[in-house]
Amino acid sequence: MRKSVIVNFHKVDDQHWFEQEILALKSRYRLIAIQELEEIQSTGKKPKNLCHITFDDGDQTFYKIAYPILVKHQVPVSHFVSPKIISERSNFWFQETEDYDQQTMRKIVLKELNLNPEKVAKIPFSIILKCLTIKQIHELIRIYQEQTNTPPKPPQNMSLEELKEVNASGLVTIGAHTMNHPILKNEPDQSSEEEISASIQELAKLLNQPIHYFAYPNGHSKMDFSDREINFLKAQNIRLAFSTDPRHLKQGDDPYRLPRMGLSPRNPMNQLKLRFGANWELVRALFTKSALNLRNQVYDMIN
Ligand SMILES: [Zn+2]
Repeated sequence: MRKSVIVNFHKVDDQHWFEQEILALKSRYRLIAIQELEEIQSTGKKPKNLCHITFDDGDQTFYKIAYPILVKHQVPVSHFVSPKIISERSNFWFQETEDYDQQTMRKIVLKELNLNPEKVAKIPFSIILKCLTIKQIHELIRIYQEQTNTPPKPPQNMSLEELKEVNASGLVTIGAHTMNHPILKNEPDQSSEEEISASIQELAKLLNQPIHYFAYPNGHSKMDFSDREINFLKAQNIRLAFSTDPRHLKQGDDPYRLPRMGLSPRNPMNQLKLRFGANWELVRALFTKSALNLRNQVYDMIN
């Protein structure tokens, strides 16, 4: 018997790759909608040979590249988005900074946060950003744009019309993913609560339907969220919440810390992850431990 798994896609820029992944998953697992996953979770049944497919962020490649394949093969998925980013047609901070000059950005970060360049020389820039509040990150982007005369990028995500169309198809269940994609654990109580509750309520208004599901930004249960966030989700009647902890799905898994295995184009680890789940978890645990150590070094310097 095969184990069960929840997989996670972000940007899908290669349609051939995506179709092959979907067909491979379809040949190995029974692909289920999120409502069936919820039913299995809530009744405490043992999940057997099941796979639920999720997407995060609402990237425009979902509408253009992934969605036609999902329709062709009639595959149900869930997709976690920000109502703010979609309705404003703006971008998440990591999309906006994607092709920024790393040296310039690093200089700005060191100056603004008053960090000792020698102490952080070995810490990847992406790790430093993940130690900040969303307000700090937005301020760094503003300074970079001002200093380098960089205009905001064109919108990278689906339009509201496209979101409504995929939502109406019956194949795609939309869930919330905060307003601005902060690392929730870095936020003060009020900000974390607002990021969560506003995203759920605004999305419900935009789509004119209740929202029952949520995915944590970044999503590592040891680094990115805590019981505080789970309590905020319960207060908004969220019934399942997804982490990015790369494990298989187990009977009796916590519905607010569901594991997910990430799949991305051109990553040879994809198949290994799914085939060698248990060993992969060990490898990933080492990665997580080292990322956590690096983050703790930065937290010590900025707090
Ligand atoms: Zn995300």
